[in-house]
Amino acid sequence: MDKRDIVERTNFKALVEADGSDRLQDRLNIIDVFLDTEDHITLEEMIRLLKEKGYDYDPDFVRRCLNRMVELGFAQRKQFEGQPIRYEHRHLGRHHDHLICTKCGKIVEFANEEIERLQMKVAAQQGFHMLQHRMEIYGLCDECLAQRRPLMPLSMAKAGERVVVKEMTGGRQARARLAEMGLRVGDRIEVINNNGLGRLILAHDCTRLAVGRGIAHKIMVSLTDAPPDVICQEDK
Ligand SMILES: [Zn+2]
Ligand SMILES: [Zn+2]
Ligand SMILES: [Zn+2]
Repeated sequence: MDKRDIVERTNFKALVEADGSDRLQDRLNIIDVFLDTEDHITLEEMIRLLKEKGYDYDPDFVRRCLNRMVELGFAQRKQFEGQPIRYEHRHLGRHHDHLICTKCGKIVEFANEEIERLQMKVAAQQGFHMLQHRMEIYGLCDECLAQRRPLMPLSMAKAGERVVVKEMTGGRQARARLAEMGLRVGDRIEVINNNGLGRLILAHDCTRLAVGRGIAHKIMVSLTDAPPDVICQEDK
């Protein structure tokens, strides 16, 4: 346990003692295990870590203890999209934000003073006094990105991804169908929705297209970071 964690533990002990909380030693064991991990952990993961250290506590007690740590400002509860509730350290005077991989669930922390300053500025411009914010960037982590093949069927692209059409593999009929929709090789499109079933919704130029899964399977695309081809003009 490093120096900062010892200070946290002592501070926690003083507060729960003053509360007259029951099971003081059990609570201290829980905060020790919590301070020992740098991960964003779920209740189940916390229970597993405790078991590894030889503590077999009932889940309800662990959950209550974690929530008490949140109330007292030692932990914070986070729920990223598509993930269970997680707990992480809350160190006074230190703030960070998160990048979340939508494929493997990896969570990466970052701190950027410029982003923090800009957020306050944006809020102030609207007459807001900023109290808190959530800055979560969703995407694919470097490892997941590396696993992707350079060419994939459009049906595999995720919502939010921008892709370039590279090849149409279907027969003449499928190609004619795409031409009808105005899709050509070299076009850049953005995936608005792809829920893994049914049709995909795409942004192409200034229109939204609904493309059947069968056809989307025949359109080979590659990822791009380039902005869309056409900037849609606002109505005059
Ligand atoms: Zn922030
Ligand atoms: Zn990943
Ligand atoms: Zn974090």
